[in-house]
Amino acid sequence: MKRTYLATSLILVFFSFSCFALNAQETFRIKGVCVGAPAKDDVEEFVSFIDTILSPSGVNTLILRVDFGYQYKSHPELVGDNPLRKKDIRKLVEICKEHNIRLIPQINLLGHQSWATKVGKLLEVYPELDETPGIKLPKEYKWPNPDGLYCKSYCPLHPDVHKIVFDLVDEITDVFETDAFHAGMDEVFYIGHKQCPRCNGLDPAVLFAGEVAAIRNHLALQGKELWIWGDRLIDGKTTGLGEWEASYNNTYRAIDLIPKDVMICDWHYEKAHPTPVLFASKGLPVVACPWRDSQVATEQVAMLRGLMKNGSKEMTSKYAGIVHTYWNSARNFMDGFYGKSEKAQNDPSVKCFRELVKIW
Ligand SMILES: [Zn+2]
Repeated sequence: MKRTYLATSLILVFFSFSCFALNAQETFRIKGVCVGAPAKDDVEEFVSFIDTILSPSGVNTLILRVDFGYQYKSHPELVGDNPLRKKDIRKLVEICKEHNIRLIPQINLLGHQSWATKVGKLLEVYPELDETPGIKLPKEYKWPNPDGLYCKSYCPLHPDVHKIVFDLVDEITDVFETDAFHAGMDEVFYIGHKQCPRCNGLDPAVLFAGEVAAIRNHLALQGKELWIWGDRLIDGKTTGLGEWEASYNNTYRAIDLIPKDVMICDWHYEKAHPTPVLFASKGLPVVACPWRDSQVATEQVAMLRGLMKNGSKEMTSKYAGIVHTYWNSARNFMDGFYGKSEKAQNDPSVKCFRELVKIW
């Protein structure tokens, strides 16, 4: 009897240890969602959504795209329409604290300073920061176009730009009570442009890396971490990944120039490209990011688990996890989740998230 008990105990201990070893290897440190910050009127519902859906789904990181949608006190001239107030953010902070969810605000820096026919708040108020002042926004936006206009950029070498944007970064990270900030920095098409008297002729990789380092260093002085999208750091031509999810404009060598503690959000939406290896091998922490294709998300999870299982401990420590990207509002995300309409019910990005949380 005693011997059977001992044997059973040993088997159980061994089994538990094996499971622990397996889990320790396969668990993602970061399970995140990136979504537009909720509108003021949707904050209460979004708080409940975090409480009842996101947290129970395992989400431990929530990136909210705020941009100019906050009532900034440091720069009231840059406040967009219907901004969130401090008391709204406070509610989000509280629920995230309760569930140990890391809350990260995003303001698009460098690129994405216009959208289609509309200039963003920063360049609307401070047009002198425009990298391409001679390129006017069209009445009707079409891609491709002769100017190669996707979105405007600010000039990273303008002497006034950092004072302004760092005020916003400091204020939003303080109100979010967070130690991390997402600066976007994806799809920067205008950089080192010939129209810019400061950047004209300079190496785009050096300019891009310089801007990453400037933002990172500013945050690091306050013990805060920088997150960015990874596309400008991948050679689009050699990898065959093209000019959107990778770079055709010579920014990719910045991968060797940026500080090694910048978190890279490696988005790929049509295929689970094994680019996390690229970032990890440069010493950069990386999360894989799906969007609306459940198959891609599933394969990204499998890929990361394979890389973690087979990689060295140095590389494995860089594979930080997965962040689902929902490229619409918090309102639409919730509507999709609750199936508010037939269209919402069939939202592929919501479906992708549902599948992802089953396996992450
Ligand atoms: Zn410039």
